[in-house]
Amino acid sequence: MGLRRKAGYSILVDPDAGTTEWDRTTCGHCNAVIRVPGGKTLADVAGWCWFEQRAICLPCKAAAVKAKGCVPFLKKIERQEARERFRVAAGLN
Ligand SMILES: [Zn+2]
Ligand SMILES: [Zn+2]
Repeated sequence: MGLRRKAGYSILVDPDAGTTEWDRTTCGHCNAVIRVPGGKTLADVAGWCWFEQRAICLPCKAAAVKAKGCVPFLKKIERQEARERFRVAAGLN
């Protein structure tokens, strides 16, 4: 590997137009590296988690569409609900 770049490194290509081209970033859900080839934008090669306001890879985007939401967030809620049910069942509430 040649030059190693920090994840999230970005280049401001046209400050006047307010467009930021991400050269390389990581998926907010699975930490997969998302590479943006020259001439492409992040939107071409990745999805966007509206919930966390961060880029996600296409497989995670597909999963999010299927789950109708942010998968890590839904999992967190599920765990919280399971804990609540346990607390109620155990008479802790
Ligand atoms: Zn991912
Ligand atoms: Zn998310």
